[in-house]
Amino acid sequence: MYGLSDEDLEIQARAAMLADELIPAEVEAELAGGELPKDVTAAHAARARELGLCATNMPTALGGLGYTTLQQVLVQEQAGRVTNALAWVASTPPSWMPAVATPFQLEKFIIPTVRGEREECYAITEEGAGSDVDAIEATARRDGDDYLLSGEKWHVTSYNSADYAFFQGKLAGGEHDGEHAMFLVDLPSPGVTVVRTPAYSHSIGHHHPIVAFEDVRVPATHLVGAEGDGMSFAYEWFRFERMMVAARCLGAAQRLTEEMTAFATGRQVQGRPIAELGAIQAMLADSLTELFAARSLTYETARNIDAGLDVKVQHAQCSMAKLYASEMAGRVADRAVQVFGGRGYMRENVAERFFRELRVERIWEGTSEVQRAIIADQMVKRGPRALA
Ligand SMILES: Cc1cc2nc3c(=O)[nH]c(=O)nc-3n(C[C@H](O)[C@H](O)[C@H](O)COP(=O)(O)OP(=O)(O)OC[C@H]3O[C@@H](n4cnc5c(N)ncnc54)[C@H](O)[C@@H]3O)c2cc1C
Repeated sequence: MYGLSDEDLEIQARAAMLADELIPAEVEAELAGGELPKDVTAAHAARARELGLCATNMPTALGGLGYTTLQQVLVQEQAGRVTNALAWVASTPPSWMPAVATPFQLEKFIIPTVRGEREECYAITEEGAGSDVDAIEATARRDGDDYLLSGEKWHVTSYNSADYAFFQGKLAGGEHDGEHAMFLVDLPSPGVTVVRTPAYSHSIGHHHPIVAFEDVRVPATHLVGAEGDGMSFAYEWFRFERMMVAARCLGAAQRLTEEMTAFATGRQVQGRPIAELGAIQAMLADSLTELFAARSLTYETARNIDAGLDVKVQHAQCSMAKLYASEMAGRVADRAVQVFGGRGYMRENVAERFFRELRVERIWEGTSEVQRAIIADQMVKRGPRALA
């Protein structure tokens, strides 16, 4: 099905194996606030690496696996079947970096990340700047051979496990005053402090603290690309992440349709399985139909990227895949809770966990409203036929 090659199917099977091995640890993680013992997480990470599921998006010249976009989607789709972010061990380092990184940056940050020896986090969003990244107030001021970085960043995912951050700020002074720039900041560094670590809907081991940067000194060698380049990196990263959000949503919906079908088949009410009730059948049928549509859209978009489609069209198609797959997965999780009845409201139930966890897929990496704005903008500029 879906025209997958033998190689694609083999990669998909390896990723499915990892997901099947991680699923039994979900409830323990959920009930412990998302945290598993460190040695267990380390063993999961080692297994993901052993199975060839890490750095699938990085070039082989840097030690990555150089998978096609479709193959990366197949891996992240299987990862998406697992709750509590346990499958984040199938890590995807910043694939936009090799094109812009200096040899120093490759050596110090990127190659160790590909090897699993270092981990990054992203400090871009601020209290007053999320969808509108251009509204950031963080600053970067040149000081001799260094820059001084200041600002307060929100939702810095994985700050608790990362050992370096991408920090985006606006240049203060100089030729590019007011333009964006991105920097690599080692963690910990003097001047970087956690303001607080809010609790979020999901229970995962990766925290999203608010982090203050106060006159954090970084050498000019830590500037990514050139002054004024900051925004273009974010756009490229968004395209990749939106595809991977779509992929993980497919996996979540796959798991949910299987679990709800199994439950509906076994659960008897008034002497017959609830799967024979029209109201339940509608929820099952709508869920699988929408999953099929989302998967076809996402795989086709991945193939278009691999075929080198125009980058603006890619951008719009990635938005369509993210929009549709994340909204679809949210609907499927809602129905799955309903099919499970009271059990669907228990945290030990997969539908309950996905019901909370999938909500953020419509928010991060660009909200659904932002995806619609991107798609509509491209429709007006290029015409619907160019996009779909
Ligand atoms: C769990 C989590 C982890 C995150 N991790 C990171 C991270 O690691 N690094 C990082 O930098 N950021 C991170 N983020 C931030 C995330 O990318 C933003 O929350 C997201 O982009 C939305 O921005 P906002 O929260 O400021 O909402 P806002 O931009 O304030 O949006 C509020 C509402 O207005 C709507 N809206 C905004 N603009 C438009 C528009 N043009 N048209 C129509 N409607 C619009 C939105 O859709 C939304 O409904 C994370 C967020 C969460 C929740």
